[in-house]
Amino acid sequence: QLSLPLPGIATTMGNAAPRGPAVEERLTQPRRLVRQLSDLDSDRLRRLIRSGDLAPCFDAAEEDGRAVECPICFHFYPSLNRSKCCGKGICTECFLQLMPSKASKAVHCPFCKTAAYAVEYRGARTLSEKKLQREEEQSVYEGATRIHSKNAG
Ligand SMILES: [Zn+2]
Ligand SMILES: [Zn+2]
Repeated sequence: QLSLPLPGIATTMGNAAPRGPAVEERLTQPRRLVRQLSDLDSDRLRRLIRSGDLAPCFDAAEEDGRAVECPICFHFYPSLNRSKCCGKGICTECFLQLMPSKASKAVHCPFCKTAAYAVEYRGARTLSEKKLQREEEQSVYEGATRIHSKNAG
């Protein structure tokens, strides 16, 4: 028998994807939290992740030059949220530690202490595009990857 993909399984490619690429269900649930968040609104969290307003709860990645390190928990992730005030990265689960719910009280930025801390997520692609620019700069100093564009002719 041929092992063909099951036609009944919904895929993100092709038919009728309502909006954007679907985020895996497991990535909408925090797993690395060091403490239970009693007031964590998991439905709201799922919506925020699905709509692209927060980074998915990625598995911690290997440091491979592409992953970015969360300055709070020091794990590496494919991409991070960015604080609107100072542009610092933070993973979703560390962000949840700071702001588990839509609490009315103001939270200060853990990096620059600006009041009314908030983050935005530009998505993995946009972020990696930005990272590429930085990596090009860094690669000059690392000497690992050389851009093999020579003046031809
Ligand atoms: Zn973190
Ligand atoms: Zn800040």
